[in-house]
Amino acid sequence: MTGSAEPQLEIAAPALRGAAMPLLALTDISKRFRTDRQDTLALDRVSLDVRRGEVVCIVGPSGCGKSTLLNIAAGIDTQFDGTATFEGDPITGMGSERAVVFQEPALFPWLNVRANVEFGLKLRHVPKEQRKAIVDQQLALVNLTRFDRAYIHELSGGMKQRVQLARALAVEPHMLMMDEPFAALDAQTRDDLQLELQSVAQRLGATVLFVTHNVREAVILGDRVVVMSRGPGRVHRVIDVPLERPRTPDDHAVADYAAIVRAELQESSAEGEPRYAI
Ligand code: ADP
Repeated sequence: MTGSAEPQLEIAAPALRGAAMPLLALTDISKRFRTDRQDTLALDRVSLDVRRGEVVCIVGPSGCGKSTLLNIAAGIDTQFDGTATFEGDPITGMGSERAVVFQEPALFPWLNVRANVEFGLKLRHVPKEQRKAIVDQQLALVNLTRFDRAYIHELSGGMKQRVQLARALAVEPHMLMMDEPFAALDAQTRDDLQLELQSVAQRLGATVLFVTHNVREAVILGDRVVVMSRGPGRVHRVIDVPLERPRTPDDHAVADYAAIVRAELQESSAEGEPRYAI
């Protein structure tokens, strides 16, 4: 080796380490819920890594621990066994670098659309002009520019979810965590929002952890689909979905992958143990 090769290696090494490190690393996560009446092992040594720029969907039957896992990743639930790190640091609570979007939009009814999206930026003391530019950009991204003065009660369910997405993205999180965000919407709106989320994620290179019980949705959105089994919640299989984007529900390849995921779900339900350990 020549003398000049060594410094180059030294410079390259940290960068390579950074690239290889998953953004979110959940390792051997177990979670038990104890109440007076029952003791539920909701997650049993679940491990899952999410890399930067990846969309990972978690799919599984109701009660398999999807939300519990997302809550741990989001820092909403900090009582668990195992290791959860984000960008290499232990997750000890919620953080602005991880934005969470729920099924029920948590918007402020007394503020209009613009003010809702602007809210987090005001909290961070972002200057007014900059706030306006960011809000304009986010509203355009989710096709809500025309509705910026509307109040929340004037919006449809799909529009409320768009506002929620714009508000989450406005603060430039490093990761979006979405828990069944489209589950309460009608089929057409759901299809539209799946397309929009794909386009937003591609344009921003966003990293997304997305919980759903809808197999087709998981295949449309996910670069990888994590199939969970229940009783207790475990990772049964992780399936890569290397299909071109945008994907729609009518794509034959989407239907083919959905069939694979469904078969895995069936297999996983056959191997589940009784749901509650008393
Ligand atoms: P999923 O999101 O896949 O439907 P959850 O993560 O909500 O599943 O729940 C996993 C298991 O943990 C279920 O058996 C559920 O009843 C139980 N569980 C979830 N939250 C609580 C809680 N706060 N107290 C007691 N049990 C809970």
